Amino acid sequence: MAALAEEEPPARLGRFAREGWIMPYLPEPWGRGASPLEQVIIHQELRGLRRPNLGIAAWAVPSIVRYGTREQQDRFLPKTFTGEIVWCQLFSEPGAGSDLAGLSTRAVRVEGGWSISGSKIWTSLAQYAHWGICLARTSPDRPKHEGITYFLVDMAAPGVTVRPLKEINGDELFNEVFLDDVFVPDDLVVGEVDGGWRVARDTLSHERVALGDSWGPGSQHTDMVKLLQRLPDLRQARREQAGRLWAEGQAISALGLRVTLSQLAGADAGTASSVRKLLGMRHAQAISEFCWSLAPTDPHWARMILTTRAFTIGGGTTEVQLNIVAERALGLPRDP
Ligand SMILES: Cc1cc2nc3c(=O)[nH]c(=O)nc-3n(C[C@H](O)[C@H](O)[C@H](O)COP(=O)(O)OP(=O)(O)OC[C@H]3O[C@@H](n4cnc5c(N)ncnc54)[C@H](O)[C@@H]3O)c2cc1C
Repeated sequence: MAALAEEEPPARLGRFAREGWIMPYLPEPWGRGASPLEQVIIHQELRGLRRPNLGIAAWAVPSIVRYGTREQQDRFLPKTFTGEIVWCQLFSEPGAGSDLAGLSTRAVRVEGGWSISGSKIWTSLAQYAHWGICLARTSPDRPKHEGITYFLVDMAAPGVTVRPLKEINGDELFNEVFLDDVFVPDDLVVGEVDGGWRVARDTLSHERVALGDSWGPGSQHTDMVKLLQRLPDLRQARREQAGRLWAEGQAISALGLRVTLSQLAGADAGTASSVRKLLGMRHAQAISEFCWSLAPTDPHWARMILTTRAFTIGGGTTEVQLNIVAERALGLPRDP
């Protein structure tokens, strides 16, 4: 690792990608087969050395490794690790969000592959993405979870139209994507035809863990402290409120540590990461609301109060996370 630190950034990125440092928990050659304990050590040792932010690839790649072919892995993973391939996730549709298995985008058999038609929505970064992971219905007559296939779609293919959507904070992060007879060859099906739901569930579980980490307490805490330092005459009640928020953030961070420790002990971290996402996203909103109430003309907090609205929807809404916790952690009856 000392040798890695001495490399100049462009060469270092190549080594990060080749030597499996980007997602070290993946099996070799894509990762280093690192145990949770080794991951913690690697994370600490590499702190300060910038590793690329993989975005959606952080949850697409593990599914390609688990269910994809060796050809798919060789073709896509090296360039994804160096940031040359950017991914988007073509899952949600106007009529299928929480109930994703109700999707209606169709893939019809044609010579050498499939022709996909339908529309997707809320597709983050589609306007920059080279490739998309896409769910489409291949057997409309089968039960809804059993007739879906997981495809890799070339975003530059004929028939793909991307239309950006403006969000409440003024950004254009996500998009509508229209697929009009888009040809996808057979070798870009991940897993079995009609077996895409299993692959999708794998992707969604990695997404929840990734979002639980990145939408938890982080830079917002330090930003809040900086704001408080600029306001020394704050009323006692406000200071107490800040203290409560700080303590809540520490508790959520401790929960993150507990997730790591239970992984070290070999337990499934899925439900705990749902709890962490639930608490973390609400906490991020509460900090923004508090700081904005102290500094209503500060553009940073005005923006954050709008940006954090989406946290309770993306990657599974609050109600859906509550269902997961109720059913899997508390053993309550399943949601009909
Ligand atoms: C910032 C952001 C980025 C996103 N990026 C992507 C992306 O890149 N790719 C992609 O495919 N999607 C993306 N999404 C979409 C996201 O996955 C969906 O918005 C989410 O799954 C909810 O679906 P929906 O919007 O259709 O709401 P719906 O599923 O229609 O839900 C509407 C309301 O009903 C509630 N509800 C639904 N089902 C139940 C239930 N069983 N019990 C109780 N309440 C329920 C929900 O909690 C919600 O309040 C993104 C969303 C956001 C906010």
